[in-house]
Amino acid sequence: MKPSKRVQCIDLSGIRKMFDMVGENSINLALGEPDFDTPVHIREAVKEALDEGFTHYTGNTGIVELREAIAHKLQTENQIPASPESIIVTVGASGALYSSAHALVDDGDEVIIPDPGFVAYDACVKLSGGVPIPAQLKDDNDFRMIPEDVLELVTAKTKAIIMNSPGNPTGAVLEKEDVKGLADIATDHNLTLISDEIYDKIIYGKKHYSPATYSDNVVTINGFSKTYAMTGFRIGYLAAPPTLTEELLKIHQYSVTCTTSLAQKAALAALTGPQDSVGEMVAEFKRRRDLVVGRLRDMGIHCNLPHGAFYVFPSTDNPEKFVEEALKKDVVLVPGTSFGQYGAGHFRISYAASYQNLEEAMDRLESIGW
Ligand code: PLP
Repeated sequence: MKPSKRVQCIDLSGIRKMFDMVGENSINLALGEPDFDTPVHIREAVKEALDEGFTHYTGNTGIVELREAIAHKLQTENQIPASPESIIVTVGASGALYSSAHALVDDGDEVIIPDPGFVAYDACVKLSGGVPIPAQLKDDNDFRMIPEDVLELVTAKTKAIIMNSPGNPTGAVLEKEDVKGLADIATDHNLTLISDEIYDKIIYGKKHYSPATYSDNVVTINGFSKTYAMTGFRIGYLAAPPTLTEELLKIHQYSVTCTTSLAQKAALAALTGPQDSVGEMVAEFKRRRDLVVGRLRDMGIHCNLPHGAFYVFPSTDNPEKFVEEALKKDVVLVPGTSFGQYGAGHFRISYAASYQNLEEAMDRLESIGW
């Protein structure tokens, strides 16, 4: 049996490989998952839905109440002119990414992706027959995706650009001028900008901007995994321009399909219920970020200050060796090259772990004597 060429050109995620290294005494700082409980009102909504027998197929784009709540969120918080008809509820933001890539990309099309960037971008582009073109995010630019740099990569074959702010693995938050500049490129060159905004609420003292405010050529992707600590529900969504929605739906309905009825009720409760848990979680993440950045800097490790998500992306000589030494101390990290060629020289720490565990992890890293 021989797998297809598309599948052969993809490696299994470097993060998953690190999970295999997790032992009994390990502190796992490789995981991109909030370590908080899913808020009670969300869990209660699922129990109610179960008791009411809400356990059947739903429409492929998702229940209308949820799409209305999402449209309201996008309009009021992100200044995106979304309507329930422009929204498709997906299996996580991952499902939205997969459908977007498959609906847009033909064999040989180029898609500009942030590098270092979330592992699925490169894979989704390749699986849809496209060619990922890495746009280097530089440490000395706070890992921002700079429109002038992206413009240099645009060719006649470019079909789409993926952006991600706040970003994984860097925690970088794009400035308004960056977001507007990228939106302008999409408009001027008739390209689609896929904007992954899954960390839009996990942000410290900066403002989040959505490119769909500035251009019609944007597919906005978001989800519930991170903001509401509900990764296991597997629910996200995309909002697309009317010209694209039907094409996206073809991929969505035949390949990935809608998420579960219960996850949709959970997401509805998340959006329409109390939001205190989000503020509390973000405040705690900020406290942890300050701890980790401070401790790494005290160890003499270069680490810039991320303004969003829950990752730091420090640099050091021979980070692979550092990750190996950390593993000997039972601290699991991810080498920067897992996020693309320009992740070289770095490693990623996720601070989605308790403050106490992070303190212990920093003690262990310090004891390496790097
Ligand atoms: N986009 C980014 C930037 C992520 O970091 C992740 C998960 O780590 C996802 C998308 C996928 O999110 P979901 O759990 O909603 O599929």
